[in-house]
Amino acid sequence: MSTTAASHRHAAPATRKHPVHGDDLDLAPGTPGGADASVDMRVYVAMSKALLSGKLRPGTPLRERTLAQALDCTRGAIRKVLARLGAEKKLVLEHNRGAFVPNPSIEDMRSVYRARRIVEAGLITTLFDQASPGQTAALRAHVEQEERAHEEGRREDAIRLSGEFHLLLARMAGSAELLEYLQRLVSNTELYMALFDTAVEHDSCAPHEHGQIIDALAGNSLPKALAAAMKHLDEVEQRVLAGAAAERKVDLASLLARA
Ligand SMILES: [Zn+2]
Repeated sequence: MSTTAASHRHAAPATRKHPVHGDDLDLAPGTPGGADASVDMRVYVAMSKALLSGKLRPGTPLRERTLAQALDCTRGAIRKVLARLGAEKKLVLEHNRGAFVPNPSIEDMRSVYRARRIVEAGLITTLFDQASPGQTAALRAHVEQEERAHEEGRREDAIRLSGEFHLLLARMAGSAELLEYLQRLVSNTELYMALFDTAVEHDSCAPHEHGQIIDALAGNSLPKALAAAMKHLDEVEQRVLAGAAAERKVDLASLLARA
């Protein structure tokens, strides 16, 4: 492991107040792997984590040389991982310019949340009153994990786990197609949360909102269950859009009025 890599190993405080530039990446390298595949996986995991940490601001260039030094690997390994993350829409690849942290427009984000509301309304309708005690227990155990991640300030884990809650619901519906589609949507919104949802650092409301969805699914009113799920997605969207508006120094109210 190089000195440069070691100097990047310090744990950064859970804050995203100051922009981090591409030359100053805080990527913690894991155990150096022997085979190419394990290096690729290590680099992939480290970069996914860095993107979900929210410390890389929208539009930040991701330079191959800096990343290779920070992660103690070859530029070839970085290139492969950048291509994969680009295909997964976790970063933007621009021809002849390189890779960048995505900088989605408000319209892009609203469109993805709209798709999630439509898909998840169907999911809630399908699952209402259908969950077995085992499935309900699994959902509650998952929410406990989310609460722990929030309490301990593990931002990346909190974001990942909050997305997985919805994928757990999709798995219960028993459609691989639906799961795949929701995975794509959740992967997009996880990134939006990482970039713009500042609430994660404060009071945790997402696990609490998930608990309400579980209660409503086992309750006696489908409209109430749908309302709980839609209210949750609305609130998540509002937090993200408010964060994006603040970052871009635009007035959220006028921005939403125009949409
Ligand atoms: Zn959620």
